[in-house]
This record gives sequence, C-alpha cells and structure tokens, in this order.
Amino acid sequence: MTLKLYDTMAREKRTFVPADPDRVTMYVCGPTVYGYAHIGNARPVVVFDVLYRLLRKEFGDDAVVYARNVTDVDDKINAKAAEEGVDISVITERYLAAYLEDMDALGALRPNLQPKATEHMGAIIEMIGKLVENGSAYAAEGHVLFDTQNFKDYGQLSGRPLDDMIAGARVEVAPYKRHPADFVLWKPSKPGEPVWQSPWGEGRPGWHIECSAMIDAQLGLPIDIHGGGIDLQFPHHENELAQGRCAHGLPTYSRYWMHNGFLDMAGEKMSKSLGNVILPHELLKKVPGEVIRWALLSAHYRQPLDWTPELIEQSREALDRCYQALLDAKRLGVDDPDDARESDLKAFYEALSDDLNTPAAYAALFSLYRDLREQLTLVERKEASISQARRRLAALLEAANALGFLTADPETWFQGAAGDDLKAKVEGLIAARFEARKAKDWAQADAIRDEIAALGVEVMDGPQGATWRLKE
Ligand code: AMP
Ligand code: ZN
Repeated sequence: MTLKLYDTMAREKRTFVPADPDRVTMYVCGPTVYGYAHIGNARPVVVFDVLYRLLRKEFGDDAVVYARNVTDVDDKINAKAAEEGVDISVITERYLAAYLEDMDALGALRPNLQPKATEHMGAIIEMIGKLVENGSAYAAEGHVLFDTQNFKDYGQLSGRPLDDMIAGARVEVAPYKRHPADFVLWKPSKPGEPVWQSPWGEGRPGWHIECSAMIDAQLGLPIDIHGGGIDLQFPHHENELAQGRCAHGLPTYSRYWMHNGFLDMAGEKMSKSLGNVILPHELLKKVPGEVIRWALLSAHYRQPLDWTPELIEQSREALDRCYQALLDAKRLGVDDPDDARESDLKAFYEALSDDLNTPAAYAALFSLYRDLREQLTLVERKEASISQARRRLAALLEAANALGFLTADPETWFQGAAGDDLKAKVEGLIAARFEARKAKDWAQADAIRDEIAALGVEVMDGPQGATWRLKE
C-alpha cells in the first residue's frame, strides 16, 4: 500500500515515508478545555483517528506514536474559573473528562500520549531559554518575543511573506515588539491568573510554544506528521515551526503537515464565538456515535463539510443498511467470517491511501456491501453454500472497522433504543410464538405476531432462529 498524503507545506500530495518505520510520530493539536467540544472540534479528531488506524495497519500497532495535547493554560479557562469561583483545575479536569468521553463515543482511539501544558512548564521554559540564548527571541517588558526577522523561512508554511504581515497588522502593535509579526513566548499573568516563575519574570507561556515544547519533550523533533484544523495553519503552526526549528537549528519541524477543512453550518464555520455550535455531548443522547462519525467522514477531510439534519439522516440510513446485512447474515448462519482477502479490499484501501479519500472509501465499502447482499440472497434461496457469503462478510467488516464502523452488535444497533422491559417482553413473545408454532396452534401464533407488531417491533425469521428490530 502506497500511502499518499497532501502536505500543506509542499502544497501537493506526497508519498508518505516516515523517518523511522519502527517509530512513526504524529501530533495533532488538541482541545482547550474550558467547555464542551463542538462537532467542528470533533472533525480533526475523527479524521486523524482514521489516519492513526491506517498507519497502525501499515506500520504495526506498536510502531505508531500519536500525541494530542491538552491546552490547560488559557485566557478562556481563566475566565471560566473566575466566573464559577473555582480553581482552574476544576474547569480543566471537568471538560477534559467530558471531551474524552465524547470522543470515545465517536469511536476515536485514544492517542498514545496526551501531554498537558501545565505539566510541561520546565520544557517550555527551557525551550524559550534556548531561543533567547541563540538570538531567535528577545525579552522586553516582562515579555519574551520570537524575532521573526531573524528566521528567514518565517511564513513558508502559510505562504505569507513577512513584508505582507506589516501591511496586514491593522491592530495597534505593542511597543515592545521589534516587528508586528513577532509573537509572544512568555508574558506576565494578569492579576488572579496562574503564575509560573521564569528567568524573565513571573508569568505564563504563549499558546504556540506549548505545542513546540511538548512535541520536543514527548516525541522528539522533527516529527513525521503534524495535524490540525486549517485555522491553525497560521499563525499557530507557522509559529510552532519557527520556534521548534530555531531552538534546535533544524531544517525540518514536521515532515508532513496536514490540515482538515472546516465544518460549516449554513455556510459559516461552526465556532463558539459565532454561537452556531452543536455539541456531540448533546447530540449523542439522540444519535449513535457511529452515525455522527459517518457524517464527519462523508466529505473528503480537506473539503468543507456542511452539517445538516439531512446529513445525519443519510448517515443513519447508510449504517442501518450495513447493520441490516450483518443481522441477515447472522440470521442465515453466516456469522463466522474468515480473515478477509486482500484482493477484496484492494479498492477500499486504495481509496483510503489516496490522501484519506473517505468518500471513495465509502463507495468501495458499499460495493462490498452489495457483494455480501448478493451472496446472502443466494444462501437464502439455497442456491449457494455460506462460504462465499462469509468471505464477503469478512471483507465488509474489515473495511468498516478500518474506518471505525460496525463495531456494535447488529441486534444491539437496532434494539438499542428499546428499554430492558421492552426487550424482555419481545423475547418472551418470540419464545411463546415459537412454542405455539411447534404445537401447530396457528391462531395463537398469529395473535402473538400481532401483539409483537403492536409494540413497534419487526421480527425476522431465519434458520438460526428469529431476530428483531425496532421499526422506524
Ligand atoms: P480549538 O479548541 O478551537 O483550538 O480547536 C480544536 C481543533 O478543532 C483545532 O484543530 C481546530 O482547527 C479544530 N476546529 C475548530 N473549529 C472547527 C470547525 N468548525 N471545523 C473543523 N475544525 C475545527
Ligand atoms: Zn498546537
């Protein structure tokens, strides 16, 4: 499998070759934990989870090191803590726990490493020290600033020449800055905010330096893949790169840069500041995580994705069809798949390896679905043995699992919304109907069937017994 990834720096797709295939390193900028994540924040999580799974398949589960940071020092966290009158750790712990719960529900594997800014103050201060020492940064009025004019490649990632940034600096430039584009590595804390000691006075780090220092401490520079939303390309990633390269005199910070497009609503970026957010935390109460995940992966990750009620409906229908096939396979005794054949999965993995082309991967997955359906029909008509159907089932399951789908038991999928009481009642009625049929008491069997239907339940009979699902 040749994996090609679109590299924002090169502005083209490049064949992915890690520096060391036994230790493939990936870093994705994680959440600032001061509130619930919205669906837009979940997009990079799910997109890079697909890449993480693909890398693990290609290089081995233990060969991939995926780090996603937690920003737990931030103005918004301070504001929220002040508003509630609690310590900032109360806020960050609460929302980190909620974040992980929500992302788990979306089927995202947890990264190997989840470094926190507050636990890396030593590494952050050390990196700033190196930058000051080698002339890449300067201290002024309690601040430490990165000297952009001293780094000839500044602007390379975002394609913004430094000269343009002077013209672009509309806001009043702080007097202690040598150049409008110079950015903060360290700054004094405001009254009431958390404070750390440093050689440049008491204060706190800037946001960008957190990521550079944590990557350096946790993964070691340079890394293979750096990811995040397209809004982070500038200034966050441009600045991360500048700091990391200058601290160590490195020609490269990350060998590949990947950025996901925005998740929009009615043509506008979903964002907290615009107030147009949908929270997985709420949505998950009504919609299964796999449905949300399906919707998030339905567009290519670099394209914008418009979030609509129809998108959720279509995603649910797509997954219902797949789960129905699993249920029918089970009903027909086709439930013990062999290992999938590589040849059956060729089109699927080709799509995924082409810069994570999930729409094409969905098409390949549905082709596997149709193959399975065809075989199940033959089995049902007793025109074929189950061996071909098992092969198709194995292929469908592997492709779906590679994307994080079809992880539920098909009965649970359809019966999920039924409470325990209803489940027990339906199971009891199905057993009673079975007994009535055995006794050839057709009137009784029909009466029970009607009773089951009145509960909004559909029963599907098969040679291995009956399965059931809630009707729409
Ligand atoms: P933040 O908490 O705002 O730093 O965002 C966390 C991650 O979500 C970053 O990778 C952002 O680029 C990404 N992100 C935020 N809003 C959206 C959106 N509407 N669509 C896609 N990605 C987003
Ligand atoms: Zn970052």
